[in-house]
Parts: sequence; structure tokens; C-alpha cells
Amino acid sequence: MAISTFDLFSVGIGPSSSHTVGPMRAARQFVEVLGEAGLLTDVFRIKAEMYGSLGATGKGHGTPKAVLLGLEGEQPETVDVTSIEERVSRICDGQSLNLAGIHSIEYNHKTDIVLDRKKVLPFHSNGMLFTAFDKESQILSSQTYYSVGGGFVIDETVEGSDQLVEDPRTVAYPFESAYQLLELCKEKNLSISELMLENEKAWRSEEQVREGLLNLWSVMQACVANGMANGGTLPGGLNVRRRAKELHQQLLSRPEAAMADPLSVLDWVTLYALAVNEENAAGGRIVTAPTNGAAGIIPAVLLYYMRFVPNANNEGVIKFLLTAAAIGILYKKNASISGAEVGCQGEVGSACSMAAGALTEVLGGTASQVENAAEIGMEHNLGLTCDPVGGLVQVPCIERNAMGSVKAIHAARMALRGDGSHFVSLDKVIQTMRKTGEDMHERYKETSRGGLATNVLEVPVNIIEC
Ligand code: SF4
Repeated sequence: MAISTFDLFSVGIGPSSSHTVGPMRAARQFVEVLGEAGLLTDVFRIKAEMYGSLGATGKGHGTPKAVLLGLEGEQPETVDVTSIEERVSRICDGQSLNLAGIHSIEYNHKTDIVLDRKKVLPFHSNGMLFTAFDKESQILSSQTYYSVGGGFVIDETVEGSDQLVEDPRTVAYPFESAYQLLELCKEKNLSISELMLENEKAWRSEEQVREGLLNLWSVMQACVANGMANGGTLPGGLNVRRRAKELHQQLLSRPEAAMADPLSVLDWVTLYALAVNEENAAGGRIVTAPTNGAAGIIPAVLLYYMRFVPNANNEGVIKFLLTAAAIGILYKKNASISGAEVGCQGEVGSACSMAAGALTEVLGGTASQVENAAEIGMEHNLGLTCDPVGGLVQVPCIERNAMGSVKAIHAARMALRGDGSHFVSLDKVIQTMRKTGEDMHERYKETSRGGLATNVLEVPVNIIEC
């Protein structure tokens, strides 16, 4: 299984990679299957059934609207985020959707998208079943998909195997574990980012890799800027106040105060993370890193590097993202980055670990110190549950990204003070995360049936949809 940096970091929309981005991709894939089979214009109606965590928290995570847009042929990377509410209203009010953008079919919101909270498909908790019917209500086609975290989607053909993403390409330096990664770096005399750059050439030229990474960086920066510019309350019914704009104004209004407070840098890191995750919660344009719920940590730590580290530059940004991806690949291959599978340790924990290792690399750390930082970043997120209040990616998710960002910077600093030798290896902590996730009760895996989700006043969610 080969995974590219651009699989882990992709441009999408909020609020959730597994519950918004993944379902949109699955719906579009289903439409493509219908098109390839020559069935598209025979379709009269489509039923989309969401199971497990998608059924439990799909409403708050915007799953239905993502499915509608995917059926109309939209992709998370390119959909116009400013038009989404209007389009969803048009579909619901008009009771018709434009399949693949070319064929109009009937749509009934009460029956055509089903959120089943109780049933869980056997392969993964984020299961989806799409069925297309003709005018006589006969089934034309039916496909099962799974949204396995980070916007990754697999279909039923890989069900029961351990092959999450089929990619026949062979990379220059394949690795399955942190141990193998470090051995390769030593043997080839490469840093982790240099090794990853060689691997990326299996998909793209070096120039395309660099351009692509800097493009992701510009989307991240735009996201932070939007988050700092947009105030008010977040959608969904919890009336969560957006804080980034106000915090930004506070920090700008008294620059002298920063000179007396050596920890003011933490306020800026907090600001960057809040800005991204508020944009995510509002359904804005996001770089999935490696998920949407945890999308604030990589940009916040990268902005810390660019704004507070002397001589930081775009070359460092490229190294940072490549190193973060190498660590993310280890989580993807050996555990999970899905909150529905292993809890928030797989989302915020993985992002924290990735950012810690990446920052260590750009601050001049050795491969062993990078591995050490990544291990610290996860070790102190082990057991972190996923319990979003109201099924919305807001509380505790937004603040949790600020905490994860600061923790990542701290982990990098701890690792850089050592020589890379340490007691728990990254491989062991990844294995522990996976096992802890397996032992974790379902109510703590993105179902909003435990933790904060049930101990905070129950408020009905009110995401824009039919
Ligand atoms: S609690 Fe963590 S895993 Fe769950 S939705 Fe929020 S950020 Fe994602």
C-alpha cells in the first residue's frame, strides 16, 4: 500500500473529513459508477443510507448536504463553499437534484437520505449504502462505501482485507514502521523529508511536489486569514461564539504587552488553531491534515515556525509537510486516523504527533529526534476520546486543536533537548494507540453518546439542510 503526502493533505470543506469530505467523494464515486455503466439517464431516484457513526452524528457533521453535492458531481477540492447553503435549499425546496450535473431526478429528503444510528456495517463504523432505482422502482445499481478517516473512501471490494487504499505504485523507499523509516534514513544518509521527497516522485515530478505543497500551504494560510476575519456564532444550534477574530484584535491592539510576556507566542499559536477550526466548523475551505477535526494543528505549528523561528522559509514549509506526512503514513498504516474508529487520539493525537516531528525536522533535529518528538506527541494524547457536543465539530474540537498545537511545539522542544534516545518507541506508541482504540467503548468514537456530549446541556442541532 503506497500513500502519498497528497492523500494525507488534501483541500476539502468543513466540518469533517470522514463525515463530510468522505461521503461527498463516495456519492460522486457512485454517480461515476452509474455513468460508466451507461445507467445514469435511467436513474429515477437514489437512496443513500448512512450507518454507524455517520448515522449518529451525520446531521451535525453535514453529511446529508455533502451527499447531495456529491450526487450532483461536486468534489470537496473544488466545490464553491459560498454556494452550498443555497444549493442545498434549492434541492430540498425543489425536491429534485441534478445527478452528475446533467440528469434531473426526484429527491425526497424524508426518504432518500437515511441516517441510521443503530446499524453498523461490519467492516467499519462509517458505512454507506447507495442504491439507484429506475422508474419502476427496480434496483439499477447498489454500492457500499466506507469513509475510513481523513477523507479516504474505500468501496466494498476491499471489505474484509487490510488493504485500505489500493495504489499499485512502488515508492523508492517503502517503509511500514518508524523503525524501518529510521533505518532507511541511516542507510541512505537522508533526512526524513528528503526520503519522503524521493518517495513522492512515484506520483509527481519534484517540481510538482514542491508546487503542490506550497499550494496546500497557501490554502492553509487563507484559511487562517478567513478564520481571523469572520466573527459571530457558528452554525448548528449550540451558539458557539467564534473567538479568533476577537483574539486577533486583542493581540494587535497591545503589541507592547507581548514584550513583557514571554508566553505571548502561545496566544498566537492558539489564535491560528482557533481560526482554522472555526472555519472548519462553519463549513469553510480546509486542508485536511490529516482530518478536518484536527486540521488546525499542522497550520498553527507551521505558522509558529514561519513567524517565530528566525530564517524560516518556504523550503522549511516543504520539509515540514513531507516529514508530517511520513509520520501520518505510519498512523494510517498501523493504527487509524479516524475518530469513529479509535477516538480523538487518532485525529488530534495523530496531528499533534505529525506536527511535533515535522517541527523538530525544520528546527534541525536528527531523524531520531523527529521520531522522539512524534512519539511524545502521541504518548500524551493516548486514550483521548471523541465526544463532540451535539454531534458538531465544535466543542471540544476547536479548543482541542489549540491545545494539540501547543503540545506539539512542547514535544519538539523536549526532543531537541535530548539525543534522540528514549524509552518508548514511536512504533510502540502507535501500536498502543490502536489497541487503546480497540478497547474504547463505542460511545466515545464519534457517536456523541458519551463524555462531554452527554454531560453538557442537550441542545438540538440545526445544521442547514432540508
Ligand atoms: S472530538 Fe476529536 S475526533 Fe471527535 S470530532 Fe472532535 S476533533 Fe474529531
